[in-house]
Amino acid sequence: MAELQLQNVSKTYGTFEAVKDVSLAIEDGEFAVFVGPSGCGKSTLLRLIAGLDPVSAGTVAIGDKDMTARQAGERPVAMVFQSYALYPHMSVFENIAFPLQMERRSKADIREQVAKAAATVQLTTRLQDKPNKLSGGQRQRVAIARAIVRKPEIFLMDEPLSNLDAALRMEMRSELTQLHKRLGSTMVYVTHDQLEAMTMADRIVVLNAGKVEQVGKPMDLYHRPANLFVAGFIGSPPMNFLAAKVTGLEGGTVLLEVPGVGQVALPGDASGFTVGGDATIGIRPEAIATAAPTEPALSLSITPRTVERLGLHTIVYGEQGGRTLTALFNGDPVIAADAPLGVYVPLQQIHLFDAAGQARGH
Ligand code: ATP
Repeated sequence: MAELQLQNVSKTYGTFEAVKDVSLAIEDGEFAVFVGPSGCGKSTLLRLIAGLDPVSAGTVAIGDKDMTARQAGERPVAMVFQSYALYPHMSVFENIAFPLQMERRSKADIREQVAKAAATVQLTTRLQDKPNKLSGGQRQRVAIARAIVRKPEIFLMDEPLSNLDAALRMEMRSELTQLHKRLGSTMVYVTHDQLEAMTMADRIVVLNAGKVEQVGKPMDLYHRPANLFVAGFIGSPPMNFLAAKVTGLEGGTVLLEVPGVGQVALPGDASGFTVGGDATIGIRPEAIATAAPTEPALSLSITPRTVERLGLHTIVYGEQGGRTLTALFNGDPVIAADAPLGVYVPLQQIHLFDAAGQARGH
């Protein structure tokens, strides 16, 4: 039995459908990340799980219990918000203790639980401080400790790191992953940041316009995106897309004319195509190499217009056939701006999408 089951869940505001017929099962102990662009419905979905908003249709079950009709306070979940939602006049201790006080627990019990949770998030020395004395990261840890003392079956986190600067976000990513390992609880985490999703999730749920586009392990989504949306959303810098026309279908091979590139034959599921129809090929920036590989490869000439040297790798924005291709090279190779550069893309690494944007080969 999955820990969290959503069945045909929808949410409408007036005539606007923010969440459209979502069915999902999150396993016990899993770290699931809902990711998608702003407005895709990920926060709404989290609020439906928390019971902060009622569903318009469908059911939400936790363990083997139907939660759909239950109020937020009656669901075994604890939510952590982007804004921390701390009480400014209360100390760290009082903020963490708040849910236990609401349950009228004994003073000794409260002291013990707060001490444990504070130790888990490394705040033991700050218990008497008011939130305004803490850094953003420490405030977020108070909010997490307040969720921990409730001993929820599921932690729900809505963009908890968004208000932190880049360095702190990176530190907190790893802290949250370690916290998840220590607690072993189910976590559902919402973010618009594909990097957070890739680095933290056991499984990612990619949402777009209220619908689930794909569910999978981070590396499965990276290597086998189901469609153009996921292919463009997962991976940084994003995948290059080149429009193509299908010129022939031979068994498991799709023959394409790619403007500015020429004829390309790719292995693929021919059933998704018709001769003369549209297709798209997808090339990850990191699939582009300056040295010819031993395997069959597409050979291209790009003219680097912008070269970004980041030490570990170099990102090149190059002109090719009237469009910009992004390439990512390891290290710091010698690349002259505005001079044609021969590059190669192994055919095996080229993604192929049909006219409807569905993946049909790789
Ligand atoms: P963001 O990252 O910007 O928060 P999101 O993916 O979390 O985006 P939601 O907050 O879930 O998106 O909102 C999804 C859509 O539903 C948006 O278009 C939003 O305007 C709309 N929406 C959310 N709440 C309400 C509401 N109470 N009334 C009307 N529309 C709403």
